[in-house]
Amino acid sequence: MSAAGRGSARAALLVAAVLGVALVVVIAVRTPWSLLPTPPGGAAPVSDDAGLPAAVVARAEALAADIRPASLANLLLGLAVSALFGLTRLGSRLVAALGRPVGQRWPLTVLLGTVALVVVGRLATLPISAYGEVVRHRYGLSTRSWPLWLRDVAVSTAIDAGLTALGLLALVALARRAPRTWWAWAAGGAAALVVVGSFLYPVVIEPAFNSFTPLAAGQLRTDLLELAEESGTPVEDVLVADASRRTTALNAYVSGFGSTRRVVLYDTLLSDVPDDEIESIVAHELGHVATDDVLTGTLIGALGAAGAVALLGWLLGWTPLLRRAGADSAGDPRVVPLVMLLVALGTLVSTPVQNLVSRHVEARADLHALDLTDDAAAFEEMQRRLAETNVSDPSPPVPWQWWFGSHPTAAQRIAMAEDWLRLDDR
Ligand SMILES: [Zn+2]
Repeated sequence: MSAAGRGSARAALLVAAVLGVALVVVIAVRTPWSLLPTPPGGAAPVSDDAGLPAAVVARAEALAADIRPASLANLLLGLAVSALFGLTRLGSRLVAALGRPVGQRWPLTVLLGTVALVVVGRLATLPISAYGEVVRHRYGLSTRSWPLWLRDVAVSTAIDAGLTALGLLALVALARRAPRTWWAWAAGGAAALVVVGSFLYPVVIEPAFNSFTPLAAGQLRTDLLELAEESGTPVEDVLVADASRRTTALNAYVSGFGSTRRVVLYDTLLSDVPDDEIESIVAHELGHVATDDVLTGTLIGALGAAGAVALLGWLLGWTPLLRRAGADSAGDPRVVPLVMLLVALGTLVSTPVQNLVSRHVEARADLHALDLTDDAAAFEEMQRRLAETNVSDPSPPVPWQWWFGSHPTAAQRIAMAEDWLRLDDR
């Protein structure tokens, strides 16, 4: 590599390190590490069964025993396929072969190569996904017909392939125009995309899977609008999503900003969940709004994305790695399989960090729900109902929870409500 190339790679590594430090600082400062003081007499014990009947816990554990190995296998197989294409010449040969009919024009070669790799990766893991869907059907968790499942797989694969192809087109285009500084432009672009994406996601992705209707006027609607008002985050509307076409899971969320902010309820909530429990869920979601959790998530995501791209700039300046993948430079379309592997590895490594932050942010939203509704009984009932309906293990194995758990366990959430109650009584 030339001296200038080495200088560029070193600059990329330096920028990645600076962004990494900034990321650690933002995470340290913005994460609510501790929420409640220890109540007099000590914290409530975390009961493994979360107060659920033994049969309910046994059913959840049986489902976990069926689904956890499949989830792990899915993850590992996806990585293995990425590694096969990214670390051998197989991927670069595939991309080059797809480029031949289009005269090796680089934009089309990148586009075809990316789409092919995304589709092959999806097909490889499809049997495991189908098995997972069979298990979810068996436990009554999924209500999707097989044609609808196939449509969902096709739509999400198409979205994935389209977005990945656009990202890689931008990366290769920048690397061809600015061989030494492309990573700096790409890092800025990635950060900007995270920001734009978090605003556009609810507008673009949500409607691709669900349709929404306003919740009919009545006591629940009035109560929820009042709750939002009281939380200091008024909403424009309460909508119902037709989630029951796919799932029996119970959920709600708040999306939009300012005057377009709305509460969305899954229609699965409306059939047999009491109003005070729906209010508890919505109060939790309003907690995310009250503490600007989307903003924090966006900031962390933007810093992480920019840092990861700078790191990518350093790695793609490393000749032995490029040679192994069968590519000449970051501007060579044959670099696509290697970039896809590196992105998959980055996502894998960032998962436990994201979930660590998420669990604390979720606990803070729980606390907001308890303060806003002043109803620990409804909160605890809702947690038990969520665990039972979603057939989720109230206390999964510690390593699993540490890596994959985006929320505190049901047992931990109930223990926090107990602490809150005892502090409230004081
Ligand atoms: Zn939440």
